[in-house]
Amino acid sequence: MKVKKKVALYPGSFDPLTNGHVNVIKRGLETFDEIIVAVANNTSKNAFFTPKERVEIIKELFKKEPRIKVATFKGLVVNYAERNGIKTILRGLRTLQDFENEFQMALTNKKLNNRIETVFMMTEGEFSHLSSTLIKEIVRLGGSPKGMIPPLVEKKLKAKLREK
Ligand code: ADP
Repeated sequence: MKVKKKVALYPGSFDPLTNGHVNVIKRGLETFDEIIVAVANNTSKNAFFTPKERVEIIKELFKKEPRIKVATFKGLVVNYAERNGIKTILRGLRTLQDFENEFQMALTNKKLNNRIETVFMMTEGEFSHLSSTLIKEIVRLGGSPKGMIPPLVEKKLKAKLREK
């Protein structure tokens, strides 16, 4: 019996990548053969890193794991998945608020393309409070995000602050 490689697309902003994201990716590799971390190519005025910088950071972080690929995408996630022959979208869940947003998005994506399924990975307790938005806020207000983001991301954040 020939088993087809199971690939999941993990889309998001990842501005910046947190330990919560890393946890979802690593646990995702227990279920999927390959995970494509897809950074949305949209720059909001609140963004810290450009999409290109985010891709570079994530690539550097996982350079020893060939089963993790990193890319940027523009437009609808389902279209990007379809173009690349990917049938599964992976998303994380932290709170009830996440659930409501993700539920709506998953149903909408299913309407747009019913060949693509969304699967969810529940956060692990110690990461449930982590969000990129809060981390940006902490850093902008002079606090330390130690333990919330990988050391490499922390280093890049500090360098970015010096640039600004
Ligand atoms: P988006 O702007 O698309 O929500 P994010 O980078 O904020 O992008 O998040 C990408 C995905 O990762 C989302 O499904 C989000 O719910 C999930 N996620 C974010 N932080 C965590 C965390 N601490 N634990 C588990 N999942 C998370």
